[in-house]
Amino acid sequence: MNKKRIAILVLIFSLTMASMGACGSAASSVDPAGTPVPTETTTSVPVPTDAPATATASTSTPTPTAAPTVAPTVTPTPKAYPPQVSLSGKRDDHLLTDEICCIEGDRFFLIVAAGADIPGDFADNVSLIMDRMEEETGLTFDVDWRLAGVDNSTVDYGYNPWEGFDFKDKLPIYIKVDLEDVGYIPCATAEFVTLYMYELFSEDVWNSVPSYRDNSWRRNDHIDYYTVAHELTHSLTERYARCGKILTEGCADYVAEKVIDSLAFVSPDFEGSVENMSNNLFYKVEDDVTPENAEEIFRNDYSDLSVANRGDEYTLGRMICSFLSDTYGESFLRDYINACRNAGYSYEQFWGMLEDEDRNKLADIFKETFGDDVFVNFGKYYQAHKSDGYW
Ligand SMILES: [Zn+2]
Repeated sequence: MNKKRIAILVLIFSLTMASMGACGSAASSVDPAGTPVPTETTTSVPVPTDAPATATASTSTPTPTAAPTVAPTVTPTPKAYPPQVSLSGKRDDHLLTDEICCIEGDRFFLIVAAGADIPGDFADNVSLIMDRMEEETGLTFDVDWRLAGVDNSTVDYGYNPWEGFDFKDKLPIYIKVDLEDVGYIPCATAEFVTLYMYELFSEDVWNSVPSYRDNSWRRNDHIDYYTVAHELTHSLTERYARCGKILTEGCADYVAEKVIDSLAFVSPDFEGSVENMSNNLFYKVEDDVTPENAEEIFRNDYSDLSVANRGDEYTLGRMICSFLSDTYGESFLRDYINACRNAGYSYEQFWGMLEDEDRNKLADIFKETFGDDVFVNFGKYYQAHKSDGYW
């Protein structure tokens, strides 16, 4: 399905090359040995061939649970922003980029790669999503968190487009274009969001890649704000704490669904996102979940990728969130994630893969928060609802 473009307005680049001051302590605390794992990239990380010469591409696997050591002293290098542009706010206007540029919002920076096609209401909609997300969860993006340091080897598959920029504590959201159909997928951590979305590729880019051009089904006929909300949820929760794969992915799906549902009235893109979401969410996990095995599954957290069924963590996690909401009330996520945070499971301390010990500790915190019988009760809930179909 081809994107219908009613009007194309190439917005004027206001070439305010704002040079920045000192990076400050936040951006200088980098320990490459303890690189954070982008939430969506549990499989091998491809190296982009279009990374600029200045980027340090790396496929190194993060050292499990490697804690940051003392931050090295880094002399900040002032760096100019990419050209700053603004959007019209109108859905039918489009920003077509032929070079990297950035858009500053109240609480984020959109960094847009060359070859993108951004609708005029995109930044406004990101703001709406962030606002609704905070209302839904009772969490805030402005929580006191520490930038663990953006590292070249982990940001956008080896390319760090914002190294040295001063984002003033605003969340960098990078909109990238996959020029060679490498298969990059969106990812997010406490520090950033990277979005690869086919519908944000320009027509020229789309038509220049045969596997895109000849497979129109790969692209939505709407901007998929569900994906945006899912990734933003990762940034929101990870600013508080790490909480294991099942709940990380589960709550991202759960919160994104709630948020997008509540914004369906905003535009046809949100409407399309709701419809698409209903059609594509996973329906069941591979192994049955019972009162007897629910705790073991949670403690294992689908961490053994050789046997884990990819996608189960999303489905099961979303089901756990529904169960917790029904049983304990809407504050369940805030309660649990603050308990994890209070127990020291901060992003700063645990920015690699979680070891068995940590996963067991998180399961213990889960029981302390919701009661010793929480897993048994979830197993019963699962059995009672597993045939409902849509989660
Ligand atoms: Zn995710």
